Amino acid sequence: MDGTGWWPRGCFASRLVHIYVHVPFCARRCSYCDFAIAVRREVPSDAFASALLAEWAGWQSHAWWADSPRIASIYFGGGTPSRLASAALTAILDRIRADRPVDADAELTLEANPDDVTPESAAAWAAAGINRVSLGAQSFSPPALEWMHRTHSAAQIAVAAQTLQRAGLLNWSLDLIYALPASIPRSWPGDLAQALALGPKHLSLYGLTVERGTPLGRWTARGESLPAPEERAATEFLLAHQLLAERGFEHYEVSNAALPGHRARHNSAYWHRRPFIGLGPSAHSAMGRFAAGTCENGRTTAGGAKPAARSGRRPKPCPQTRLPSRSFTWACVPGKGFPRHGFRWRIPGAGKRPAGPSRAGTISRLRPRVGSGSMRWWPA
Ligand code: SF4
Repeated sequence: MDGTGWWPRGCFASRLVHIYVHVPFCARRCSYCDFAIAVRREVPSDAFASALLAEWAGWQSHAWWADSPRIASIYFGGGTPSRLASAALTAILDRIRADRPVDADAELTLEANPDDVTPESAAAWAAAGINRVSLGAQSFSPPALEWMHRTHSAAQIAVAAQTLQRAGLLNWSLDLIYALPASIPRSWPGDLAQALALGPKHLSLYGLTVERGTPLGRWTARGESLPAPEERAATEFLLAHQLLAERGFEHYEVSNAALPGHRARHNSAYWHRRPFIGLGPSAHSAMGRFAAGTCENGRTTAGGAKPAARSGRRPKPCPQTRLPSRSFTWACVPGKGFPRHGFRWRIPGAGKRPAGPSRAGTISRLRPRVGSGSMRWWPA
């Protein structure tokens, strides 16, 4: 067990680690979204990168790095990471690469909204090392996009896809949402056809859920919006499954389908309970209970169960399996979960609070603290 009591030292099946970076900024809140975001006209990219790298620096003394695991994937999720200035993105990636070994073929993903994809931004992302982009399209229907409060048009989705490809970012994914209320004029088969016509390597398909506290939650509570019945959600899901299978996609996870060789390695790591480190205000880190390898005499068996099997001994479960499956390293959750309207932030030495509204309930300051070997971001 390391000094923090979180995870047993050196008992992972894989000496690979995955990094998730939460970039909370969005231009506006989508009608269905209850993610931990900060609506910002101007993104405080430099301050954010500084705070994030302070958190990363806090991780460097953690005993878990003792066996020098390699980084297999880095995922910038949001929020809308494409709103982060390219220089900040580059600074974060450069620092991670300088501090820890990153696999030569590591998957480096950036979530992007179509209206943020320009020739300049795409080129900068590629130059920074991003090799996979996840585009939040959701629908090609103008009324549906308007109803969702999306910031982009249907035409911008196609332009973004072409722009990514011209920048050499060929491995890109598209998000779509199904099971919209019947009152929203959208054709699910039509959206699927338009998405496939753009040539994505990967599709993420999410069934719409109604979350309390969102505009959609309020519309639904007032009876102004009726959720799609389960039967239609199932029909749309199965239709997508059939169509994608016909087009050679592997529906490898309930919400994700990919052409062969293009499964999201980062996302798959979660399902395989690989260890991952979360950085940023709403990220958490975890040791997957079943990612734990087998231990021989209390020591790591490099490569997991195989060496133990070769030795003729029955692999013993790593003591890690007796621990809770997840260890949250980030503790910004006062009461019951992340405050719906954000958090407050304070960056020591970063000067004044970032530009933008500072009313209670919005992200105004971050206050990273060192704790248990990692930097924690607390609500101020
Ligand atoms: S862009 Fe994404 S994270 Fe931001 S509000 Fe919309 S759905 Fe939520």
